[in-house]
Amino acid sequence: MNSINQESPYQNKITMLENELSRINKLFEFTNITNAVSDFDSLVIHLNSFLMKAFELNNIAFFLEKDNVYQLVANENIDNPYSFEFKNRDEGIWHVLNEGKPAKLLNEKGEKIYFQFFEAYDLLDLDAAIWLPIVFEKNVIAVISLGKKKSGEPFNDVDFDFFKNFIGFFNPVINKFIRQKEKESSLIYLQKTLHNISILYNIGQAMNFIDDLKRLIQLILAKAIQTIGAERGSLMLYDSATNDLVIKVVYGLPDKDIEKKINEGQIECTRIKVGEGIAGDAFINKKAIITNLGENDPRFFPSYLSNVQSLLCLPLIVKEEAIGVINITNKKNGKFFDQDDLDFMGALANQAAIAISNAQLYELAITDSLTKLFIRRHFEFQLENEIKRCARYKHHVSLLMMDIDNFKSINDNYGHQTGDEMLKKIALVILETIRKIDMASRYGGEEFALILPETYKENARKIAERLRKKISGISIKTKGGVEISPTISIGIASYPVDAEDKHTLIGHADEALYFVKKMGKNCVAEYTSKGCILIKDQ
Ligand code: GH3
Ligand code: MG
Ligand code: MG
Repeated sequence: MNSINQESPYQNKITMLENELSRINKLFEFTNITNAVSDFDSLVIHLNSFLMKAFELNNIAFFLEKDNVYQLVANENIDNPYSFEFKNRDEGIWHVLNEGKPAKLLNEKGEKIYFQFFEAYDLLDLDAAIWLPIVFEKNVIAVISLGKKKSGEPFNDVDFDFFKNFIGFFNPVINKFIRQKEKESSLIYLQKTLHNISILYNIGQAMNFIDDLKRLIQLILAKAIQTIGAERGSLMLYDSATNDLVIKVVYGLPDKDIEKKINEGQIECTRIKVGEGIAGDAFINKKAIITNLGENDPRFFPSYLSNVQSLLCLPLIVKEEAIGVINITNKKNGKFFDQDDLDFMGALANQAAIAISNAQLYELAITDSLTKLFIRRHFEFQLENEIKRCARYKHHVSLLMMDIDNFKSINDNYGHQTGDEMLKKIALVILETIRKIDMASRYGGEEFALILPETYKENARKIAERLRKKISGISIKTKGGVEISPTISIGIASYPVDAEDKHTLIGHADEALYFVKKMGKNCVAEYTSKGCILIKDQ
């Protein structure tokens, strides 16, 4: 009797130590698993089954935070698992969890402590006994809910110490996996979007494709920078005419007004020569560069965007050719860019490069190389679309057909080159005069067509007259030193007043144009059902 009594405390101690040892062994086992698994989902499954076995629990659940709501992502032995979710609230339990400490949900008598919270979220059936938080940058990003022990025994202090250590030990591991999962899912999302848009360009279905692409790139850049946790970034494209890299899109500049102007192409910002600076280096060597030396890196090329602590530069490569560079600057909280960031951005850059290159090829295919205006085929395609849109929304659209007067004599007297120069200059004046939504094209040799959406005839007349005058103000110096100025004739027709389909509309605008030619050129005329009328100075 006596000997049993004396043995008992030791026996208990030994059992406790044995239990603890077995858990520590399991913890090691689990460490090996975490080192071996490569994705978040299998990590959670292994984690659940480890804790479940180690403590012989009734159930276990893993909740992941998304947009402020904790959603169940994996569980064992839970009925009706989809009914469980909750929010971080300003109550007792969250004061414990927010500090990264395990929270006991039952008192010594086995009664629920945070009853109100559990009742409010209909979580009582979860039958949880302990919650373990995973904290990242002061946010609880996940919660592991442990059920009661199958034996009915309460958790003791040793268990509780173990959980504290467990959280400390696994917080960074789980954290890393969660970040990785977030990155993966946003990468998949971004890649899908880019892929879709690049298919769209391939089939040439997009209406405002170039603008769309620019907006898309802005979005992608913003999202990528947020995902990586950096301060700002830019996308540069190669300009073969000048052998420069030109910033096309920026995100995260301190001055939002400048950012907007750069993105809308209103201010021309930094150009760097290929091979110059870190971005130029990444471009020419077609290799990504990470530097955490900032401005102390000897390759650094100072620009108005200085204040660089860390930089990630990735070339945009299509069919082994570099078409541009993505720059991501200053990882937040004094952190450095690492291989993870590089892999993430690399995968994104590949997709972006394809989408951009498709858009560039498409742009090239629909642009006239001399005047940089759209070609006739694209004009007809756009006019068709515009008329369909107008029919649907009961809008108006006007069409101007323009033809340079006596152009043949410019060629004949001053040579073809002077003629070409004249064409270029006139195209530039047209582009400078029209609105963003208007569309100018080179209809034929020295003929231009202009689509003016949402424009009644009265306004079309004014625009035509303004154009005619501006063009007659152009002056070109010929080789012989003579200054010459062009004149132009313009015909107007509008939808729906003059025509209800594309062919008739073009035909009527043409009719008005040839009316001007017949009446002496250098003038504007409009088509009407009663015949064409010359527009006098307005
Ligand atoms: P009108 O006032 O009646 O329009 O007379 P025009 O001389 O302008 O008309 P015409 O159609 O007889 O001549 C058009 C000329 O435009 C003929 C062609 O050589 C020239 N042309 C067409 N494309 C180009 C080009 O790309 N470059 C140059 N330099 N000339 C071109
Ligand atoms: Mg002509
Ligand atoms: Mg002509």
